[in-house]
Amino acid sequence: MGNTYEVIIVGGGPAGLTAGLYASRARLRTLLIEKGIFGGQIANAAHVENYPGFPDGISGLELGELMHRQAKEYGLETVAAEVYGIALAMGGTVIETTEGDYLANAVIIATGAEFNRLGVPGEERLSGKGVSYCATCDGPFFKDRVVAVVGGGDSAVEEGILLTRFASEVILIHRRDQLRASRLLQERAFANKKMAFLWDTVVEEILGNERVTGLRVRNVKTGSTSTIEASAAFIYVGQRPNTDCIGKLLSLDEEGRIPTDGRMETEIKGIFAAGDIRKNSSRQAITAAGDGATAAISAEKFLIQQ
Ligand code: NAP
Repeated sequence: MGNTYEVIIVGGGPAGLTAGLYASRARLRTLLIEKGIFGGQIANAAHVENYPGFPDGISGLELGELMHRQAKEYGLETVAAEVYGIALAMGGTVIETTEGDYLANAVIIATGAEFNRLGVPGEERLSGKGVSYCATCDGPFFKDRVVAVVGGGDSAVEEGILLTRFASEVILIHRRDQLRASRLLQERAFANKKMAFLWDTVVEEILGNERVTGLRVRNVKTGSTSTIEASAAFIYVGQRPNTDCIGKLLSLDEEGRIPTDGRMETEIKGIFAAGDIRKNSSRQAITAAGDGATAAISAEKFLIQQ
């Protein structure tokens, strides 16, 4: 059957592409399904400097493209489609997609995570009109403007620093008085003269008619509210695992991630999970790639035992 594969990988980020490389090199008939561009979230990163082998750093987009090229070299097939269902069937697992159904003997779920919404008035209405989740994509539109970044993790700080290349000032709004981001990023942010910090502050509303003009914020210690002027609001308040396509097939942990054993196998034999979608993932491109390699090696062993 043309739509039958030994291994089907769902998701084309570092986890999925590395799984694709290993499975294809193992001479397994392998299909990778990705709805967007290769690289997953890392494709949005302007400069990746903690992926080994690139001492000068590399753009996330280029890294994703290189990973794809390398896997394709060994025969990985890909299809651009959205997966909306994964179901057990006679003789394997059916992957239901917008481009039709595929049957797999082994499945590797590497669907990653997407940025959370803040959930305040104005956010959805002004999305694409100053509200953004991608500094690399939208930062250049705000040359010499004041922009706000919401969040205190690695994403907020890293993207905030990136935005200083364009903006006249980057105001980082964090709900506590200490950043969650790594020390190295904190050092860089504090040393950057274009960065300002609004501590103990939450955003209550994003303001503007046609475009973002400011944010209404509240100090959580004093309770006082105020308005800050900004042309954009970049939101980095954590990430949500992409598990919609899994439905009730697998049980998830309290964060909505998939538990696996050390071989990346889920509670269902022959179904593996890798990368940010996996419980206890370190949520780094390199650890996702490692998960992908392990999942593919485990899938190969599973298929041999069948
Ligand atoms: P994160 O580490 O979960 O941080 C989310 C930040 O948003 C936290 O500072 C959190 O505040 C804040 N927050 C959450 N909900 C909020 C709300 N409703 N209102 C206001 N603030 C809210 O998420 P992330 O920064 O996207 O990073 C995710 C993972 O990717 C991490 O493991 C990170 O190390 C990794 N990552 C790594 C790199 C890198 O290595 N260069 C770059 C980006 C991401 P609290 O601190 O108070 O909880």
